[in-house]
Amino acid sequence: MNTLPRRNLGNSPMRVSCIGLGTVKLGRNQGVKYPSGFAIPDDRAARNLLARAQALGINLIDTAPAYGSSEERLGVLLKDRQQWIICTKVGEEFEQGKSWFDFSAAHTRHSVERSLTRLRTDVLDMVLVHSSGEDLQVLQHSDCLGTLLDLKAEGKVKAVGFSGKTVAGGLLALRDCDVVMVTCNPAATGELAVIDAAATAGKGGLIKKGLQSGHLAADGGKDPVQANLDFIFTHTGITSVITGTVNPQHLEHNVACAIRAISGGE
Ligand code: NAP
Repeated sequence: MNTLPRRNLGNSPMRVSCIGLGTVKLGRNQGVKYPSGFAIPDDRAARNLLARAQALGINLIDTAPAYGSSEERLGVLLKDRQQWIICTKVGEEFEQGKSWFDFSAAHTRHSVERSLTRLRTDVLDMVLVHSSGEDLQVLQHSDCLGTLLDLKAEGKVKAVGFSGKTVAGGLLALRDCDVVMVTCNPAATGELAVIDAAATAGKGGLIKKGLQSGHLAADGGKDPVQANLDFIFTHTGITSVITGTVNPQHLEHNVACAIRAISGGE
């Protein structure tokens, strides 16, 4: 196998590349936990990154209102909208260097309408609840997920999901969601139970922080990206690993490692 495989998002007809492109770094360089500071790429560099992603077979792009100018820039830069599956989020906002959260029905609706405008589209492929980490509180005592389900029924959103921080939250979210996003890497395996439950239920399973947000550890001489992706793709039920990068060579390496990891495991 020398092309990046695509997998169905659970039982949905959406097929997404096994590596997705995370776009925090396209829109925000404050309040992030990457190993070193960085400059947000200019339009030329961002266009080059997106073109490289597409040439590598990537069709899944992950963004959020909390990623600074990421959504707005993608709206301008993604020319062939139909070629992309766009995942965005609701609930977290980032302003003047700080995050704040609003999971109310009114804010959820406002946020989705704003994402549609910013991304210059009439439908969002996936919208995930961007949890604060108080997962059960958000799910049981806010109208966020219910409002997203209403927006799905209205045709503004194709798939609804939850990006949380706890197993209990992920499992509860799966009752209503089409997709979950969890942290998974060799140093953080606790939420894999959510991926297992998603696979059993025919739901999509996305991975964030698969490369430990850049804090990659040497693994006995093995390339650390290969080591992490081998580890992740050994697990069944994973639809896609969202790797965040603004470096086209890194993206190419991530795709090559994913292809090797998947061909070794299938
Ligand atoms: P990640 O993908 O684990 O790591 C990204 C970091 O690794 C970047 O600093 C990147 O730097 C570096 N990197 C990527 N490929 C590399 C390579 N081949 N060699 C060396 N370094 C490499 O972590 P993440 O960005 O925290 O998470 C990924 C995506 O998941 C985000 O972009 C976002 O879309 C999503 N996410 C979602 C949530 C949520 O709550 N829903 C939270 C966190 C993240 P370079 O730019 O220099 O390559």
